[in-house]
Amino acid sequence: MNTTHTFADLKLIEPLLKSVERSGYTQPTPIQMKVIPHLLEGKDLLGIAQTGTGKTAAFSLPLLQILAENPKRRVAKQVRVLVLAPTRELAIQVHESFQTYGESLKMKLALAFGGVSQVPQVHTLSSGADVLVATPGRLLDLLMQGHVSLAGVEAFVLDEADRMLDMGFINDIRKILAVLPKKRHNLLFSASMAPEMERLVNSILVNPVKVAVTPPSSTAELINQSVMFVDKSQKRELLAHLFADNEFKRVIIFTRTKHGANRVSEFLDRVGVSSRAIHGNKSQSARQNALNEFKAGRLRALIATDIAARGIDVDNISHVINFELPNEPETYVHRIGRTARAGTSGVAISFCDAEEIAYLKQIERVIKKSIVVDREQPFHSDAAQNSNARPPVQQNSGRPRGQQPRGQQPRGQQPRSPKPRPQGRH
Ligand code: AMP
Repeated sequence: MNTTHTFADLKLIEPLLKSVERSGYTQPTPIQMKVIPHLLEGKDLLGIAQTGTGKTAAFSLPLLQILAENPKRRVAKQVRVLVLAPTRELAIQVHESFQTYGESLKMKLALAFGGVSQVPQVHTLSSGADVLVATPGRLLDLLMQGHVSLAGVEAFVLDEADRMLDMGFINDIRKILAVLPKKRHNLLFSASMAPEMERLVNSILVNPVKVAVTPPSSTAELINQSVMFVDKSQKRELLAHLFADNEFKRVIIFTRTKHGANRVSEFLDRVGVSSRAIHGNKSQSARQNALNEFKAGRLRALIATDIAARGIDVDNISHVINFELPNEPETYVHRIGRTARAGTSGVAISFCDAEEIAYLKQIERVIKKSIVVDREQPFHSDAAQNSNARPPVQQNSGRPRGQQPRGQQPRGQQPRSPKPRPQGRH
């Protein structure tokens, strides 16, 4: 039985213990407990974990410790730890974690991602770095121009490997693997294990320790999930109705397309809800600004497409709203994982129109449970009527403490509701 309960039990060195304390972490998350001892022993690792589980600290803390315990002189253009991340946002967050945890260790950290000038990145790398966090495309560019050498890499981390494959990075990854030293410490994290992933894992990891913190397709127990059946044409009004409730403080809204994200954001602005859309067509600085505003609480809503939202790490997300259901069930799991991070509770609401009922059924099959039908809906919908193939299941699945289920609030505290429009079924 695992009786480890504190970071000190994990044999982390003093400066790292101080930094986790400064971060306000009182005890390691399950993945940290399981992973850190193996990584300190230098074992290869396959971690099946989503963002929100504390996986970044699970690998950055032990890697920092290994670097600190084996100091070496920096070599121009070389790096000792290489972390590959699929998106700029995730790369920035991982880099920030290394900065936070390694604050008093005097490590030199480098960050490289595309869409911005390479000049500062080249400058940082010119004298070598202890850790480089990079997206694959920019790293290859820098490699080809000779601005970085991977000959000194001691540890290689492939973060969110499933997303790397989804985004078509496999060839870039193979090119990078080809120039890494044969003998190295390998870590691979993925939220799911498709057969394609199996091949990648076998080509990278040597006798890995396997750690799974949640089965690939299980949804966090702490998330209160519900579905609202609504006609496509009324989704925006339903959104405005929800935002009349002040509980909706810090909300991520998912849309399937970039245009959809823009349209929702423009609509919310019109009804007085501060919001910003982030997606691949926005510049890196626009995305980062939106994220900063959102983190600082100056925006109530961030509207995101799946790729832009990947790895976004914002604490205390009050709600995740699926404005459109994703056509891949795994994506649903990723989306709702934005709320209820690191052990807190959260709420995920999915809008479902008549055309999306098949997606909902797929999702329920994969998460192996029915999503509660939210009965307090301002609008009737075709989707609700079409859904009688799947009778609504009433189950209360852990609404966060202090929050009344909508529809059970005392009179007078009901959220303001726009006047429901009569619904015909023509
Ligand atoms: P990650 O899964 O790495 O994206 O981390 C998700 C969130 O959990 C981040 O906001 C971290 O700051 C936070 N976190 C990481 N480790 C802990 C911990 N031991 N206790 C509480 N929060 C943590």
